[in-house]
Amino acid sequence: MRKFLAYFIPILLAFAVGALGSYIQGDALKEWYPYLVKSPATPPAIVFPIAWSILYVLIGVSAGTMLAKGDMSVLRLWLLQLLLNFLWSVCFFALRSPFMGLLVILALDVTVIAYIIYTAGRRSAAAWLFVPYMLWLIFATYLNGYIYINNQKPKGKITMNTTAVKFALPALPYAADALAPVMSKETIDYHYGKHFKAYIDNTNRLIEGTPYEGLGLEEIVKKSDGALFNNAAQALNHRIYFDGLTPVQKVMPAKLEERIIRDFGSVEEFNKKFTETAVGLFGSGWVWLVENGKGQLSVVPTKDADNPLRHHLNPLMCVDVWEHAYYLDYQNRRADFVKAYMNLVDWDKVASRMSNV
Ligand code: MN
Repeated sequence: MRKFLAYFIPILLAFAVGALGSYIQGDALKEWYPYLVKSPATPPAIVFPIAWSILYVLIGVSAGTMLAKGDMSVLRLWLLQLLLNFLWSVCFFALRSPFMGLLVILALDVTVIAYIIYTAGRRSAAAWLFVPYMLWLIFATYLNGYIYINNQKPKGKITMNTTAVKFALPALPYAADALAPVMSKETIDYHYGKHFKAYIDNTNRLIEGTPYEGLGLEEIVKKSDGALFNNAAQALNHRIYFDGLTPVQKVMPAKLEERIIRDFGSVEEFNKKFTETAVGLFGSGWVWLVENGKGQLSVVPTKDADNPLRHHLNPLMCVDVWEHAYYLDYQNRRADFVKAYMNLVDWDKVASRMSNV
């Protein structure tokens, strides 16, 4: 019975600390951790609980082999590593400080190596059982260090107060009813006032307290994933979309027209290609006029929230073909909407987005 307890109690303790650590990770695991820039060597999320479960058994059995012999001398080092293990969850997840996490994990590395050296002279089995733990911790030190180094807040920003500047809903460059009847005031009220605003609000909420705070919308779209990417990309897509509309029909600037003719054959061919792509895109998404690094133009569709910046392309103009963009005015007639949209394009804005390649 004593021997059983000698093994059982350390294993139980290790798992209790693991469970407490997981509890502490709580909201940070959903709201903060997913948006950190992580090492490409980071294993899938499922690997962590499996690895830790195996390690806790090994850690427990290691202490058990000592305690079963009645050797209590190692207990202090063993408990210290367990305490540091717990403290890491507190520093990294509860305090959301990769820096403090790194300090704690370095202390843990030292403690675990000291434990191995100490037990090696007394009972080699106890030392060997700790080796996988040590190797995993060295890997975890690297992962934690990578996160610390790559998620520093941008420096050199001078602000009057500590409140980070949030993204604002950009004012429309025209009145809400100016695009009617092609785009009704109701559509603008919902699409701009509700959908676009929600993407901005969500982006502001999701970057709070993360390394994305203080970055431009384009940078966030390039680097983020998950919910933040969806909202930031939709915020950027709608910014380009609403900014690129005008109630006043404009003549296409010559430098844009030249490039369109060069890359599509004619303006009519471009219109046809753009419209067909928009009508043909299945489901929700966007159709873009983009330029690549050499200034060549093309028409590309993207799914859902995706933005050409993710594909190293510069977006010049876009049409929103999510149903919310046209359903109030056109119901299911997407083709009519896209055709009408072409008459609202502000070609000056499109040209102004071109790089001078
Ligand atoms: Mn939309």
